[in-house]
Amino acid sequence: MGACRFHIVVAILSLVFLLPGIHGWGADGHHTICKIAQSRLSEAAADAVKELLPAFAENDLASVCSWADQVRFHYHWSAPLHFINTPGVCNFDYNRDCKDEDGVKGRCVAAAINNYTTELLTYKQDSSKSDYNLTESLLFLSHFMGDIHQPLHCGYAADRGGNDIEIHWYTRKQNLHHVWDVNIIETAEERFYDSNVDEFADSIQKNITTGWADLVPKWETCSSNQITCPDVYASESIKAACDWSYKGVTEGSTLEDDYFLSRLPIVKLRLAQGGVRLAATLNRIFS
Ligand SMILES: [Zn+2]
Repeated sequence: MGACRFHIVVAILSLVFLLPGIHGWGADGHHTICKIAQSRLSEAAADAVKELLPAFAENDLASVCSWADQVRFHYHWSAPLHFINTPGVCNFDYNRDCKDEDGVKGRCVAAAINNYTTELLTYKQDSSKSDYNLTESLLFLSHFMGDIHQPLHCGYAADRGGNDIEIHWYTRKQNLHHVWDVNIIETAEERFYDSNVDEFADSIQKNITTGWADLVPKWETCSSNQITCPDVYASESIKAACDWSYKGVTEGSTLEDDYFLSRLPIVKLRLAQGGVRLAATLNRIFS
């Protein structure tokens, strides 16, 4: 292609990659989950991930963990796959809730996790003959495993997972969904972790091997030998959304230290579980 066209393509691609993601944990949340996950891969899974990652990722899964947010502008079909809405109740029912706004069933984050897991299972047969773009399958699975652990990604339909609840985060106008995607993590990084996402991720890693170590085997396990179990993750999220995200919040609330300090442990727990479960799922897929 001519130099001019090349420049246009580069400009468009830069724009696509620089636009902030608005679906799911912010970049730092996804980065944390993928970093934790990659450190827990078996040898076989680590090899497969290395082979499937695009070259520009330089074998760093965390660097492409928000790719699914960036491509939603040209993969419009993927937008409903980042979340689930319940009809105002604190539990998840796949048949009732896993659908998009037009009511098309199977268009939600739980179904997406099952779908990309199934696609990645073809890697073992012969990846060169797979019908799927397994690089994209890996990036989607890694991202959606994060989203499903963000409590407000399994929130109420009426307020679009908190997107329609306007509040103040300290002195700034914000919506409740964004507080859980970004602000709690960002405020924690600024206050406790040198404004450094890797220090934040490392502190969660440390908790996984110490304080939470006894719980980790249970997080990793799915019943009846399933490869992954998104219905469990979604059920936990809507419960956490009711118990922690929505609790005590009304339109116009001001959320500050009381809310931040009591919810930060929940955010850290969900990021830890997301990372541990992404690794466990990939280990089972590529075993
Ligand atoms: Zn997302």
